[in-house]
Amino acid sequence: MNNEANATPAPRRIGILAAMPEELQTFLDEMPDEHQVELAGRTFWVGHWHGHVVIAVLSGIGKVAAAVTTSLLINRFHAAEIWFTGVAGGLGSEVRVGDVVVADELVQHDMDARPLFPRYELPGKGVSILRAHSELSDLAVETTQAVLSTVSRHGQAEAGALSRKDLDDLGIGLPSVHRGLVASGDQFIGSVRASQAIRDAIPATLAVEMEGAAVAQVCHDFGVPFTIIRSISDRADDAAHVDFQRFIRAVASPVSHAVVDAMLRRR
Ligand code: SAH
Repeated sequence: MNNEANATPAPRRIGILAAMPEELQTFLDEMPDEHQVELAGRTFWVGHWHGHVVIAVLSGIGKVAAAVTTSLLINRFHAAEIWFTGVAGGLGSEVRVGDVVVADELVQHDMDARPLFPRYELPGKGVSILRAHSELSDLAVETTQAVLSTVSRHGQAEAGALSRKDLDDLGIGLPSVHRGLVASGDQFIGSVRASQAIRDAIPATLAVEMEGAAVAQVCHDFGVPFTIIRSISDRADDAAHVDFQRFIRAVASPVSHAVVDAMLRRR
């Protein structure tokens, strides 16, 4: 249940996985009281943001790295919910660079234990698709819509860092929010052939990335609610990417920051 704007939300312990250092830094800037804990080659930052205890950490790239980080957030840092922010390749025909995809469902597109189990099925779990927490994802979608609509109206996001000029220079129109199926696997999908193969095999896929479904599996195993929020950085094809570093700095990081900030206020 969302809190009313004027109600004080009960403090929660929230584990936030960032995909990129630039993104993580915008979170740490909000947590002046943070202290760091080194574990398994990772640095976990524990502090407060809008009254909640936030444990922020770089996810690490790929399913195994993300699974280990998620498991540590839950078991060592007692995160009661997990939020993931990062970038992804857009696969759905309507999903453009600059848009945001919130995962309703996640699948591992490289899971294939045939003939023992059907393609994509998670051995031992009897399913291939895992659902994200609907209330958290509702909050993520509403919040992202609000953040992006500020850009549309004023050319400037609430965070103040996302500008119409950067979007114009990067060739990004009015960004929009999508929710649906996200496919994860241990491959960067960077060719028309590879992205078409996933589209053909799993037609509902909106976005492709390398961690979300692993985070989902760990959260399912431990019964912890989670949401996966992805800015679309590329179309998972051969096209030379928009300037990736500029995209991260000018779009993905400010969007993640503004969305997480607004979600924490409302949580
Ligand atoms: N293109 C970037 C590298 C991104 S590395 C560069 O030039 O530096 C891949 C990371 O971005 C992963 O964490 C993954 O989750 C996400 N990602 C973005 N686009 C992706 C794509 N097309 N395929 C797979 N992962 C993608």
